[in-house]
Amino acid sequence: MCPADNLQFSRTSNYIAMLQSITFEVRINGGMVGMMKIAVLVKQVPDTWSDRKIDPGTKRVDRSKDQVIDEINEKAVEVALQVKEAQDAEVVVVTMGPSSAQDGLRKMLAMGADSGIHIVDDAFGGSDAMQTSAALAAALKDKGFDLVVAGNESTDGRTAAVPAMLAERLGLAQLTFLRTLEVKNGVATGERLLPNGNATVSAALPALVSVTEQIAEARYPNFKGILAAKKKPIESIALSGLGIDASQAGGANSWSVVETVTPKPPREGGTIIKDDGTAGQQLADYLAKANLI
Ligand SMILES: Cc1cc2nc3c(=O)[nH]c(=O)nc-3n(C[C@H](O)[C@H](O)[C@H](O)COP(=O)(O)OP(=O)(O)OC[C@H]3O[C@@H](n4cnc5c(N)ncnc54)[C@H](O)[C@@H]3O)c2cc1C
Repeated sequence: MCPADNLQFSRTSNYIAMLQSITFEVRINGGMVGMMKIAVLVKQVPDTWSDRKIDPGTKRVDRSKDQVIDEINEKAVEVALQVKEAQDAEVVVVTMGPSSAQDGLRKMLAMGADSGIHIVDDAFGGSDAMQTSAALAAALKDKGFDLVVAGNESTDGRTAAVPAMLAERLGLAQLTFLRTLEVKNGVATGERLLPNGNATVSAALPALVSVTEQIAEARYPNFKGILAAKKKPIESIALSGLGIDASQAGGANSWSVVETVTPKPPREGGTIIKDDGTAGQQLADYLAKANLI
């Protein structure tokens, strides 16, 4: 071994000895190493401005037209993109829905999400919240997500149950109904509105959070984003790809059943008060009769 090697060996061995003599703590996002992975759950629903109907025959929502991604989910995507802009993160938008839900996923990709997962199979038609959460859990469980972001409640089913069910199935801590969210050093922290104030809640990642309307204003996709979205990947997963038995899927096997559907009674004409000088009195009488004063 030439003298130089000796020197090199002694330098290297000194260096190793030096390294071994010190301990240092690496905290990279709370135990996660590398890029944070965020899943955002988005649901396609009838546009709240449209004339939403339930089909009396199937007792299911008429999803034939005016389908959009629920506004609360656009806000959930927005808050995930803000986390991505604050630190290195990959944002994946996830939906269980009919083939038309693909358009909604593309819109979320145009906002800036990186890729999509589309759970699509006619066998899922009429699923209840238990079945929806089971399918979402099967799709997410081995994908190494550090954070799952959901809306607090959908505008059609409105069970507000899927986030909690999914957290339970994935064994994740959950922070629900958040109106603020910060993700730092591997901890998610947020503020929850309470009847008599606010609560600040936090959980180490991996965790699931659900957000409320107050969380953020969703950005509009720009032209560049719309073009880029066309090339972004969407993984489609059918029932067979989830390892869920067909006897567990869909309305025929759901835990909760819609027994009857009665259309909302037509709005009655309101009370018209003509001001012949006694309008004030008439209004007061009307309010008193309605026990409003
Ligand atoms: C009028 C009506 C009444 C219903 N009543 C019931 C009932 O009483 N019990 C019951 O179990 N089911 C019910 N359902 C079915 C239920 O709506 C669906 O199972 C639905 O997929 C999940 O429930 P949700 O919309 O209430 O979700 P919620 O729990 O209100 O949704 C909260 C969040 O979970 C995520 N999420 C929900 N669904 C999906 C999805 N398909 N893909 C991706 N993310 C999603 C979104 O982030 C959403 O913002 C009803 C449906 C309708 C239309």
